[in-house]
Amino acid sequence: MPEGDTIHRVANVLRRALAGKVVTGFEVVAPRMSSDAARFEIVGSVVRSVESNGKHLLITFARGADDVVLHTHMKMTGMWHVYRPGERWWSPRSDARVVITTDEFVAPCFTPPVVELMTTREIAFHAVLPELGPDVIHDEFDTDEALRRLRASPHDRDIATALLDQRTISGIGNVFKCEALFLERVSPWAKVADLDDATLARLVAQARKLMRLNRDGGERRTRFALNAAEGLWVDERTGLPCHICGTAVAWGYHRSEFRKSWYCPNCQNVTWAPTTAEALARLG
Ligand SMILES: [Zn+2]
Repeated sequence: MPEGDTIHRVANVLRRALAGKVVTGFEVVAPRMSSDAARFEIVGSVVRSVESNGKHLLITFARGADDVVLHTHMKMTGMWHVYRPGERWWSPRSDARVVITTDEFVAPCFTPPVVELMTTREIAFHAVLPELGPDVIHDEFDTDEALRRLRASPHDRDIATALLDQRTISGIGNVFKCEALFLERVSPWAKVADLDDATLARLVAQARKLMRLNRDGGERRTRFALNAAEGLWVDERTGLPCHICGTAVAWGYHRSEFRKSWYCPNCQNVTWAPTTAEALARLG
């Protein structure tokens, strides 16, 4: 499943292939978009930049006074590929929602849940993009701003939910959230308001470190193990012994976040976590 580390890597690959190149072909087959695409006249423009912020990927096309930006969000399913012209694609052509072509490369994007074209001026009015928090994987990450946004989050919000909110910090996915909470021995259900600044700073630094270690790809891992299957501390390890204390790893739900947390009840000092809808309701 794509997380911020994956999208950062995809942006690097796309940037190397496309930046500075003239677009010779541009197709969009996303619903509600095809008619829109024509008004932007992207064919003939030059790819000015490819950037990621969290799981959002932005490709900017230089086009006179007002540049055009293609926004794709990968969520669970989307993925960009880069091919040489004529090379066989690894996914069916019918799944491609966007195809950018230059003389040297063809870049299709498969099944992204979000595909949008807008001018750089229109971005200011976008529902999500101007609100995104600092991107945890970027070199120039603003830790103070990330902590300020964590502190500004609703008073009763738990830390697991806050770390996943892209308006607070951009780029942390569920795997690195679970792993950072485990490594810092913090309960996923701890209220942000009950954690001190030092703990929040350690959590953010840990998530950032893990994501940056994983940004070049390969099997996602947060601990050293000869066997790649043992490369994570708690994520999706239900019932398996904690690598530190041997207690069975468990999971639980959150109130306003569909992604679960895996944790060690002993290391993270969690005595109870909701594992049914009824128990979740009891969280109040
Ligand atoms: Zn443990």
